[in-house]
Amino acid sequence: MQSEVAMSKPVNNPKTREWQAMSREHHLAPFSDYQQLAEVGPRIITKAEGVYLWDSEGNKILDGMAGLWCVAVGYGREELVQAAAAQMRELPFYNTFFMTAHPPVLELAKAIAELAPAGMNHVFFTGSGSEGNDTMLRMVRHYWALKGKPSKKVIISRVNGYHGSTVAGASLGGMKFMHEQGDLPIPGIEHIPQPYWFGEGGDMSPDEFGVWAAGELERAIDRLGEDKVAAFIAEPVQGAGGVIIPPDTYWPEVSRICRKRGILLVADEVICGFGRLGSWFGSQHYGIEPDLMPIAKGLSSGYLPIGGVMVADRVADAFIEKGGEFFHGYTYSGHPACCAAALANLEIMQREKLVERVADDIGPYLQAKWRALGDHPLVGEARMVGLVGALELVPARGDRSRKFASVGEAGTLCRDLCFDNGLVMRAVRDSMIISPPLVLSHEEADDMIARIVRTLDQTHAALKKDGRLAA
Ligand code: PMP
Repeated sequence: MQSEVAMSKPVNNPKTREWQAMSREHHLAPFSDYQQLAEVGPRIITKAEGVYLWDSEGNKILDGMAGLWCVAVGYGREELVQAAAAQMRELPFYNTFFMTAHPPVLELAKAIAELAPAGMNHVFFTGSGSEGNDTMLRMVRHYWALKGKPSKKVIISRVNGYHGSTVAGASLGGMKFMHEQGDLPIPGIEHIPQPYWFGEGGDMSPDEFGVWAAGELERAIDRLGEDKVAAFIAEPVQGAGGVIIPPDTYWPEVSRICRKRGILLVADEVICGFGRLGSWFGSQHYGIEPDLMPIAKGLSSGYLPIGGVMVADRVADAFIEKGGEFFHGYTYSGHPACCAAALANLEIMQREKLVERVADDIGPYLQAKWRALGDHPLVGEARMVGLVGALELVPARGDRSRKFASVGEAGTLCRDLCFDNGLVMRAVRDSMIISPPLVLSHEEADDMIARIVRTLDQTHAALKKDGRLAA
């Protein structure tokens, strides 16, 4: 996966050099090429405020990715710090195993249930989205065993989906380069095509393609046997795969198929949850009625690590009615300080009406400016929903089938120039993606767009000069 961090520039601050040496000597960072990391050294981020980051060289950078899609309320929120500190003074840790609980875990469970889609009233807490997906897999299989259908084990997911980096998370995800390291996926997981119209829709209209892509789920169920399939998992909008926004026909058809064929529907809300699409959950935006929803990221705005799985009553009731211990849990399931921070985060989101803001104010404001970027000669499509979007960079506008000679060359160049222009945007193959904090102001949105236009112009000029655009 391409990182957000561009190649480091010459270093002026001696502390930067010291930290980079520590990195080289001791730190194995996630999703990094260790040879490159050792040679170039990481960019060191030292502080943040609002939607801006500062690195150890004193550069101020607009964070177009909200950390890693998570810092919904922006940086520097003293309220979250105070909530976590107060909880740590009162009860820094106690587990939630073996019939035990504490106030913050219960209060948070109730608060999330009040925001979740109707009929979704229970939550199992984890430390991350990946652990949420591992929990989901075990829960789904446990559920079918309790229902007397233990052969229903297979989980269908999508090519290029992302569900985390643990063994189950990476297996559920459809990223081939992850599967190649470590003999994944584990058995019992099947991948079907993604609803990526721009890249894979061929001559079909988006609506026709949405029906076709959903139909792939039904064809997979036919192939595998309804009695073998436990669940289908998908992100409402595929994030790390490149902000793949499905055609309007996709989710209604997927929902219909899951209900008709008796398989559980899992909406991975790790990115879409907590306001990203302009509703509390992506499922509400698309009218999906999921049976389970992995959550994380925006739940605490990333201030402290917490995730979970929301469980619909029809599934939770089976656990409660049948009884018997669920042999699963993490030391940090429902960690008190993380729960306290998450509660404070949800309070801010409600008080400041951040979700409504994405739906009615900053969302439409940024979307209009974003769509206008679609006129740039380097952009084949500019798509955005809520506050998450992608720009497809293309060598020849108007021809979706034309690609750059080597995948990622334009994306990587654009991403690096973006950083030089003081903006974090992520490159996925040759699309540039953005997912800013939900508190982004109109002025900051204007600033962001101006930086993007400058970057696109520079990228276009550089590609043209090297003869890498179509004639
Ligand atoms: N699911 C989705 C949809 C995600 O985007 C991510 C993280 N990007 C995860 C799961 C995994 O979450 P974590 O990194 O917290 O384990």
